[in-house]
Amino acid sequence: MSEYALNPKSRFIFITGGVVSSLGKGLASASLAAVLQARGYKVRLRKLDPYLNVDPGTMNPCQHGEVFVTDDGTEADLDLGHYERFSGVPAKKTDSVTTGKIYQRVIEKERRGFYLGSTIQVIPHVTNEIKEFILSDITDEDFVLCEIGGTVGDIEGQPYLEAIRQVAYELGRDRTMFIHVTLLPYIPTAGELKTKPTQHSVKKLQEYGIQPDMILCRTQVPIPENEKRKLALFCNVKEENVITAMDAASIYQVPLAYSGEGMDRQVCKHFNLPYNQPTDLSKWEHIINILKSPEGEVRIAVVGKYMMLLEAYKSLHEALIHGGIANKYKVKIKWVDSEQLEKEDASNILNDVSAILVPGGFGERGTLGMINAIKYAREYKIPFLGICFGMQMAVIETMRNICGIKNAGTTELDENCEPVIGLMTEWDKDGAKQIRHKDGDLGGTMRLGAYFCDLKPGSKAAQIYGTDKISERHRHRYEVNIKYKDMLNKAGMIVTGLSPDGNLPEIVELQDHPWFIGVQFHPELKSRPFEPHPLFVSFVKAAIDNSRLV
Ligand code: GLN
Repeated sequence: MSEYALNPKSRFIFITGGVVSSLGKGLASASLAAVLQARGYKVRLRKLDPYLNVDPGTMNPCQHGEVFVTDDGTEADLDLGHYERFSGVPAKKTDSVTTGKIYQRVIEKERRGFYLGSTIQVIPHVTNEIKEFILSDITDEDFVLCEIGGTVGDIEGQPYLEAIRQVAYELGRDRTMFIHVTLLPYIPTAGELKTKPTQHSVKKLQEYGIQPDMILCRTQVPIPENEKRKLALFCNVKEENVITAMDAASIYQVPLAYSGEGMDRQVCKHFNLPYNQPTDLSKWEHIINILKSPEGEVRIAVVGKYMMLLEAYKSLHEALIHGGIANKYKVKIKWVDSEQLEKEDASNILNDVSAILVPGGFGERGTLGMINAIKYAREYKIPFLGICFGMQMAVIETMRNICGIKNAGTTELDENCEPVIGLMTEWDKDGAKQIRHKDGDLGGTMRLGAYFCDLKPGSKAAQIYGTDKISERHRHRYEVNIKYKDMLNKAGMIVTGLSPDGNLPEIVELQDHPWFIGVQFHPELKSRPFEPHPLFVSFVKAAIDNSRLV
């Protein structure tokens, strides 16, 4: 394979999961990347998802969680959010793949006649495509960490295990490492940690020709030495490579915890790299200290519609925490199902919070409740941040309740409304016109990824960002119609952010309000613990100031 020659240096770490799903493989991968970075290495993180969707863009957030969007407009698994937050390395299109995408490429090639008459099979054609993904677009990274989604034993995962086995065979074991993340269940009646499921899971991996080099054991209680020895012996892994991964109070504790257990030292040892020097994790210690002893606590309501799975708001949750860290405050989020605000008075539900955030969303359910929350925030001068759908709802609220246009709405929900928010069928991307059709595909066709936005000089947004031009990530199909700009202006809602061509309102602000901002983009996707997003820093500060008034 030619790509190998291109980069003789990169080492590949494959992270698989066993026993049960939701073990936090993404977090484990991100944490390992962070501690390797702290040792001075350059890292890259990748996610391989065995499901058949081409990307998670069309999946219900209540099932799959948040759809993370990269600068280059890829809709990807939320683990890419962990990767970016922990490593600070912006993820790219080439860092996320699914079986759907792999098959799409194989079938496209087959149609083009690329395979010169061969019978197309899972091995080698699908596995080769997976290998190509793993090895592509790498320059001078020291480590490429590839997380395989799902659990060992899943039918969908088999081609991935075969592909990573082949990569290890071809690159050599000194350039590859297999880390298996498992669960040690604790049986309280017996007072014992059980290693059997891990043993079975490793046996399953071995059936695919993969011998893990390290086992990362998720556990509620410390692993007794004799159990570690047993695991090492039966799983054919060095004892010091059986790593304890205890549940942590904060996800930002995880790199410190893993490093404390010797994970990065053992990884370096595996690759014959210097391993004795201590890892400098002082920046992680710094944020943990703030999280452990904040100067105060502030409550912020998130009024959304995907409350049955809070993973749907993963980046948002983290961005609020980052805003808190920057202000040395603990942010307590009150998750409010917007439908509740359709049955009950907003003042009953929101009277104990210092700020209100309405996040992104799709579809009708719960929208009236969001509008009620926004009205309450506007009237009682409670700091408000509306993100994407939340901004669109804020514009509708102003149009209905200040401008008196009772049927103001979005064509996403009602074709016959006064279309203050309408479908975007044309927009500019880097000088090229993007065109969409009303009845076109839903997958991958939104206005996605990073776009520039010009800020109105002197506006609150410009003050917060400290600049007049920003770039933010987007994921929307509808837009505030620019023709309502003057009407909004008269109502005190000013458009303070615009796409560079002046066609798309990107930010609105209420004038007669201490802190009321709606943004068409998703600032939460770019917030990181060490680079908190300015909007969240300012929003949390406004919440703190408001809490002091109460
Ligand atoms: N549903 C809205 C749109 O497509 C908002 C999308 C979002 O909140 N991400 O424009």
